[in-house]
Amino acid sequence: MELACLDLEGVLIPEIWINFAERTGIDELRATTRDIPDYDVLMRQRLDILRQHKLGLPDIQEVIGGLTPLEGAAECLDWLRERFQVVILSDTFYEFAEPLMRQLAWPTLFCHKLETDDKGMIVDYHLRQADPKRKAVQAFHGLNFRIIASGDSYNDTTMLGEADAGILFRPPQNVIDEFPQYPVATTYPDLQAEFSKASTRDIRP
Ligand SMILES: [Mg+2]
Repeated sequence: MELACLDLEGVLIPEIWINFAERTGIDELRATTRDIPDYDVLMRQRLDILRQHKLGLPDIQEVIGGLTPLEGAAECLDWLRERFQVVILSDTFYEFAEPLMRQLAWPTLFCHKLETDDKGMIVDYHLRQADPKRKAVQAFHGLNFRIIASGDSYNDTTMLGEADAGILFRPPQNVIDEFPQYPVATTYPDLQAEFSKASTRDIRP
């Protein structure tokens, strides 16, 4: 049995924080782990900024609800779901992903959780575990699945390494340079072709 494990942001949907910053005009929210490598420091800063701007979860979800999956993503996901069991492994939060998951017909998603107070303000965040993408693939191996994984970024490389086959989708050049062992897909038809190639079954792209 083969499982397709997909990253979410950059593969099926746009980067949530960057698009949220653009839509709200709050530039400080554009910071990523490239600017602030300590994820906890980055998240605390983001939550502080949201609080300063009095943005609660419903406001944030409304903005995110105005985003759409990347063009062609829904069709590619449908293609994969007909041929593999698909699990999305993401470092986002359920509460942020929800408006976009609805548009993708609620695929299985393993990610993290936010904590809100009774006014809807985000007071904390909870990571399910450390290195969750790699741990998920390890666990699926324990269930005797063969894993083909795809992601776009550094935070996917431990997942790709743990999988039986890994595919980079629209990665930045530094990731291509550092991980030359993975094929690179830049369009959804390319991605489907790479999944077909990586499969041990006779699957047409
Ligand atoms: Mg990504």
